[in-house]
Amino acid sequence: MKPFLPFAQPDIGEEEIQEVVDSLRSGWVTTGPKAKRFEQDFAAFMGGGVEAIACSSATAGLHLALEAVGVGPGDEVITTPYTFTATAEVVRYLGAHPVFVDIDPATFNIDPRRIEAAITPRTKAIVPVHFAGLACDMDTILGIARKHRLKVVEDAAHALPATWSGRLVGSWESDATVFSFYATKTITTGEGGMVVTGQPDVAARCRVMRLHGISRDAFDRYTSSKPAWQYEVVAPGFKYNMTDIAASLGIQQLRKAGRFHDRRAAMAARYDAELTNLPIILPPGARAGDIHAWHLYVLRMRQDAPMGRDEFITRMAEMGIGCSVHFIPLHLHPYWRDAYGLKPDDYPQALAVYQGAVSLPLYTRMTDDDQARVIEAVRRLLE
Ligand SMILES: *Cc1c(COP(=O)(O)O)cnc(C)c1O
Repeated sequence: MKPFLPFAQPDIGEEEIQEVVDSLRSGWVTTGPKAKRFEQDFAAFMGGGVEAIACSSATAGLHLALEAVGVGPGDEVITTPYTFTATAEVVRYLGAHPVFVDIDPATFNIDPRRIEAAITPRTKAIVPVHFAGLACDMDTILGIARKHRLKVVEDAAHALPATWSGRLVGSWESDATVFSFYATKTITTGEGGMVVTGQPDVAARCRVMRLHGISRDAFDRYTSSKPAWQYEVVAPGFKYNMTDIAASLGIQQLRKAGRFHDRRAAMAARYDAELTNLPIILPPGARAGDIHAWHLYVLRMRQDAPMGRDEFITRMAEMGIGCSVHFIPLHLHPYWRDAYGLKPDDYPQALAVYQGAVSLPLYTRMTDDDQARVIEAVRRLLE
């Protein structure tokens, strides 16, 4: 039997290894010149006009961004139940409450038509999640936010690079956008994240809170002409900075982001072309002219499929292929269910999509033969 094909794997090349070795030899291992360069490169990738703040994870970045836009105790934050728990847990870190709004099954994203009904006098922000790398309808979401004076922080953990109406996610007028560089994401730093914002005050607050609420970061303290020991603590901040070791990976991964995306898009197109005439619903693509990041390829099993989703994943694993499920909706998890008294059919669209959802392996280190193996296995089980 062929070796097991994992569900996901990072694509780390010699360039990343050399860049990391360079940092190790330089003696600067924590936040320093490489983190700064990664931030500059990332802001340029977004098209300029924004600041980028590197942090230890997207979870950290979402926490920083929501804190910076003023989310606090008792506030409500509107988001989707069809996401990873990090999206909503950071709202709880701040003593605020997530308010879930069901998804549009055609996109797997929060349904913008349902957002206004969830707004109350306590609503402070909207956190859209660009599921799988398919951008949310940013025109509509930002329009609602403007009308009701709400903040918008985008969870773009899946969305590098993705566009809506031809504009990159991260370059819209939301208050902040947060990317993830976790091992399975479209580029990786091992662990890491990036907050992007066009608002200097939000950027400044994120920078201060990223490092203990200290008014100067370590790099500044050791490179500026002011005495290195001099700093002020201006808030009870966090320890969310990105190391130069991680940033070294990020610098080289970002240079490959275009190539990585081309490969992912080609693989998604091949799945689309070769998984036809099966009892499944193929994942939605981006609108004509827009870019889908293809972090995930999530198909839905139809009711008339010869087996259920759980059995399908077990049988795929028996054939040596790793699949996954994105996501178990938050309202089905004990914490969220019990904390907010949620029932499965409170979000019927999220529930229905989840019940049939299967993520197939899709990553740049897969060969054409690996993908052929996946396609053959899916066809054998479902034909
Ligand atoms: C991965 C992920 C996160 C968290 O990213 P980390 O970098 O692991 O903290 C947040 N939101 C979504 C939707 C994710 O998939």
